[in-house]
Amino acid sequence: MKVYRRYMHNSLRNFNYLIGCETTREAIALDPLDGEAMVRLAEQEGYRIRFIINTHEHHDHVEGNPAVVAATGAQVLAHKNAIARIPGVDRGLSAGDTVELGSLKLRVLHTPGHTPVHVCLLVAAEDNGGTPALFSGDTLFNACAGNCRNGGDVDEMYDTFVSQILSLPDETLLYPGHDYMKNNLAFALTREPDNTDARYWQAEVAATGEDDMPLMTLGQERLYNPFLRLHSEAIRQKLKEEFPALGMGDRDVFRALRRLRDEW
Ligand SMILES: [Zn+2]
Repeated sequence: MKVYRRYMHNSLRNFNYLIGCETTREAIALDPLDGEAMVRLAEQEGYRIRFIINTHEHHDHVEGNPAVVAATGAQVLAHKNAIARIPGVDRGLSAGDTVELGSLKLRVLHTPGHTPVHVCLLVAAEDNGGTPALFSGDTLFNACAGNCRNGGDVDEMYDTFVSQILSLPDETLLYPGHDYMKNNLAFALTREPDNTDARYWQAEVAATGEDDMPLMTLGQERLYNPFLRLHSEAIRQKLKEEFPALGMGDRDVFRALRRLRDEW
């Protein structure tokens, strides 16, 4: 599997991905925003786009579909309940499905929370030279969870994290739908001012251009992403001081963090 990540230089800070099979030279365009750019990239690199996968229905994740379809005849794949929400879906996906293309094998995780129809794509270690990979859309970002403000539900997001995200192996490479890492680390540091890993990566990304943001693993994310650190004493202590009436179950902590991030 060869992954090309392209930063879109737009106000929403999207990443577009071209995921290629180096054997058959077939490729998947994931969440194309600039469809023409994805088609050009595939041509330059010698791939034929066969599938588009949309992680969810928000406009900045589907807007490039028509241009890619027009140029390549690619099939559009999205969660089966997104068929009514995304024009031109050819194939509805369900949890546990595998999207196969050449040597590519992407397992579909249904991950509601950001929206009810959101999917993530998981590549097993054995299908990527020993390193698992997660295309997380707007479910998991570097140093944050996705928001639940545009059709989402924070309790579903929490359930998705507990049932499908938290247990993924440390070595899993994270390919999120947006570049929010700088802001998210700044927020993370408001929750854990003494987190030296958050400080370290804040300095690293401050010195890095948007096209070259680091590719992180879930193990690294677990060191600074507050939504993966629900048991952090520092996070809990601060919440307790600020909101004495707040329950301290994991779900309470997750909800409080999401609300604070929304208001930040
Ligand atoms: Zn979205």
